[in-house]
Amino acid sequence: MNQTILRTEKLKAFYVLDVLGTRKVVKAVNEVDLEIRENEIYGIAGESGCGKTTLLKTLYAAIEPPLRLIGGKVYYRVNGEEVEVSSLSREEKRKLRWEYVSYVPQGSMSVLNPVIRLKETFRDFLDSHVSGKTKDEAFAIAREHIAALGLPQKILDAYPHQLSGGMRQRVTIALAALLKPRIIIADEPTTALDVVVQRGVVQLLKDIQQNLRNTIVLVTHDMGVQANIADRIGIMYAGKMVEEATTEGIFGDPLHPYTRYLINSLPRFGDKTTRESVPGSPPSLINLPSGCPFHPRCPYALEICKEQMPGFVKLDNNHKVACWLVGEGGNGKAS
Ligand code: SF4
Repeated sequence: MNQTILRTEKLKAFYVLDVLGTRKVVKAVNEVDLEIRENEIYGIAGESGCGKTTLLKTLYAAIEPPLRLIGGKVYYRVNGEEVEVSSLSREEKRKLRWEYVSYVPQGSMSVLNPVIRLKETFRDFLDSHVSGKTKDEAFAIAREHIAALGLPQKILDAYPHQLSGGMRQRVTIALAALLKPRIIIADEPTTALDVVVQRGVVQLLKDIQQNLRNTIVLVTHDMGVQANIADRIGIMYAGKMVEEATTEGIFGDPLHPYTRYLINSLPRFGDKTTRESVPGSPPSLINLPSGCPFHPRCPYALEICKEQMPGFVKLDNNHKVACWLVGEGGNGKAS
């Protein structure tokens, strides 16, 4: 089993809002424990609004106000040593970003400057991270990098608006890989792309991971994309991790009732029966149900589910579940 490269302990990220003079706390990431390994693609899935993007931004330490409360710890393994991010100076964090960990946000236009050619964007990026490169040297590095990823050279002379959405997304990913980071954090990189273009973006991420032998943490609600690319998958519900397993484990032996709904709702070749979706609606992160947050939608809910949140129980090295029906969580209490 590969070493852990990114780990969290009881990570919390809450937004504090002022709604008509009343303070509201949005519990977007609520005591999340993660262990992400070297040389793997780790997928995070769940319905919209379950806290996936906030979790990624918190891992990347890129959260801006109105996020006020943050608790727990984030550890990165850097050059063989585990460092806790909050103990780093501003300058150390700046160095960690992009050079060690890079971030692909939702929507390529939030990264690409619309009024300069893409080669200038690559040059600006190199300028701010690698000192002493002349303009020609920076353009040469960009050309070499684009060629290595199998993308057409002519895109470097284009403005972002001259490219298709899929190509812009690939350029954004190429930019994130430019400094050969050990970890790439990608937020919904295939959203709003048609399936053929999606396949190209997924393949590019796979190629980068295989070439750099690094770690990719990928958020997408699209379970088809997860099946295609992820080595392991974490299922998130209402700000918490509720199941984690290898991709085979999640699709072949889902144990949490919410995961089972996600898998059962997927279309299957040749099967024309109506797919069953998750009943009800996701809870408000401002007003979470007591106990297990899935209990109002869960057909198996027990009395204890309404009162206590089950622990995230490790069944083996690759499978964890938070449900009173499974593993130690179900010991006696659910019977
Ligand atoms: Fe359902 Fe209870 Fe398991 Fe939550 S803990 S998923 S409510 S059975």
